[in-house]
Amino acid sequence: IVPKHSDYSSRSQVSLERTFHFKYSPCVWTGVPIMVSNMDTTGTIEMALEMQKHNVLTCLHKYYSADDLLAEPNLDPNYFAVTTGINNEDLLRLEEIMEKINPTFICVDVANGYMSKFIKTCSNIREKYPEHVIIAGNVCTTEGILELVNHGKVDIVKVGIGSGSCCTTRKQTGVGMPQFSSVLECADTAHGLDAHIISDGGLQVVGDFAKAYGAGADFVMSGSMFAGHSQSSGILIHDYNTNGDIVKTYKIFYGMSSSTAMERYSGGVADYRSSEGKTVKIEYRGDVKNTILNIQGGLRSTMTYIGAKKIKDIPKCITFARVNRQLNTIYDG
Ligand code: 5GP
Repeated sequence: IVPKHSDYSSRSQVSLERTFHFKYSPCVWTGVPIMVSNMDTTGTIEMALEMQKHNVLTCLHKYYSADDLLAEPNLDPNYFAVTTGINNEDLLRLEEIMEKINPTFICVDVANGYMSKFIKTCSNIREKYPEHVIIAGNVCTTEGILELVNHGKVDIVKVGIGSGSCCTTRKQTGVGMPQFSSVLECADTAHGLDAHIISDGGLQVVGDFAKAYGAGADFVMSGSMFAGHSQSSGILIHDYNTNGDIVKTYKIFYGMSSSTAMERYSGGVADYRSSEGKTVKIEYRGDVKNTILNIQGGLRSTMTYIGAKKIKDIPKCITFARVNRQLNTIYDG
């Protein structure tokens, strides 16, 4: 990102809050457009309780029951999304949660957002919940955006196939698109329809958030950046030295289509499918509060470097410099 003349001398002069009006839902939502992935290691109730303090959304994973959510009266229904798949069991659970808790956001999530059954399910959910904000995905091209917005009647499309840190889809199937190019294309299409997109997955460092907004993402979602914290699920794993002292502490982070997840929730990997996710150890990073403050600080700093006062201004203020890697050149010193 190329630095530019800026009238802002302090990070405190820029705002990370954005107010959204949606294509179909009449809701108006104001908050910081960062989202925590609906993976069962990151989309936890504990995560949502911390993130809502920073006006950040958590997409809860789909294995919570209505009673699990009811048991936490401090959850703010404006700052989490309930996630659902598209089978009958998922949809019954969604109905119960909507009756009992009524969160603002519904996230309909499948690995392949191009299936006609998925688009039909989204439009059925819209019919049932005309007032709610519907998020759906994942797709990675204009065609996917058009189908989901025009026929699925969703407000926000989740964009990204093959870019997640725990994702092996590209290796296993050859399917996917480079995330940056995909966000450029999908944002352009969605904005032409008054819809919004989430850039989902692939962020490795704090500076990547600004790049995703710069490419046109309205929201940016991450799993790995929020994994490995006390609010993430899973036990702590320690490495010891020969004296028996702890030298490193980890948490396990795994893809929702990994064999770890399938063994946990579906009794193993069915013969007809393969695992499209991996399981990794992430060094334990303590309270996620420090991480979200660090991400927000980095983003404010990018905004002062490029002279953007609001998140919405990032795409028009940003200039990218293309770094050409010298592939195939032999450096012989
Ligand atoms: P990350 O931020 O860790 O790079 O990517 C998180 C995203 O990866 C999630 O929001 C989701 O879209 C995607 N994802 C999660 N689990 C899996 C999986 O098992 N396989 C694939 N292909 N993608 C996954």
